[in-house]
Amino acid sequence: MNAERLSNRLEAVANKIPEGSRIADIGSDHAYLPCNVVNKGIVPFAIAGEVAQGPYLSALEQVQSENLTEQISVRKGDGLEVMEPGEVDCITVAGMGGTLISTILENGKEKLEGVSRLVLQPNVGSFAVRSWLIDNGWELVDEEVLKEDGKIYEILVAEKGDPLKPYQQTQIEKGILFGPFLLKEKTTVFKEKWRAEKKNWERILNQLEQASQNEEAASKRDELQKKIDMAEEALK
Ligand code: SAM
Repeated sequence: MNAERLSNRLEAVANKIPEGSRIADIGSDHAYLPCNVVNKGIVPFAIAGEVAQGPYLSALEQVQSENLTEQISVRKGDGLEVMEPGEVDCITVAGMGGTLISTILENGKEKLEGVSRLVLQPNVGSFAVRSWLIDNGWELVDEEVLKEDGKIYEILVAEKGDPLKPYQQTQIEKGILFGPFLLKEKTTVFKEKWRAEKKNWERILNQLEQASQNEEAASKRDELQKKIDMAEEALK
């Protein structure tokens, strides 16, 4: 992967960015995503945010080597602290866990003023992102699931709106876990993901059944059984 040729995962993230929007790519690493969309003329301005020194320097080097310093501002900082309210229209956060993505959004809430779209790609724990969106008035408008190099990724797109709208035709708990749009589509990749998750939960449940029988283990078992049942239902 490089800035010219993105991975399928990052390409799918790029495809969800509305043309002409100013973006902030948080956790940008090499800044491949902002360089790619700026070079293609999809976005006129981007912020590449990075908290770690190494990736920050890689982003800086990439942007300088592509002569994009006028259009891409590389900034070092934690989450949304690298941007001011109203500076961008769209925020992308990709390649991190769902809990970290939710924490970044939660800690930077006041910076979301004026942002009309969030494109979020959690590697795991997308339920944490969906929960945060519901709690904060963001409506999920699109989802995608894809497989690359043996790994399965989800992309969540949200805009300000009615956060419960996408969950009207599904039980909310189920929608948060599987994704309301993904649950409707039930693609082959979706089924592959949840078959593997279900198998994993069954393995853990089996281990728990053989372990101590205290109250905590019992509640964990109930929780796992509930998720297994939901996955079974989703896979039908
Ligand atoms: N977004 C790129 C992608 O999807 O290919 C890079 C993903 S990389 C696995 C995650 C990056 O997020 C790392 O470079 C890490 O330093 C950065 N990161 C983690 N927590 C962050 C935070 N709170 N604020 C900004 N960047 C963060």
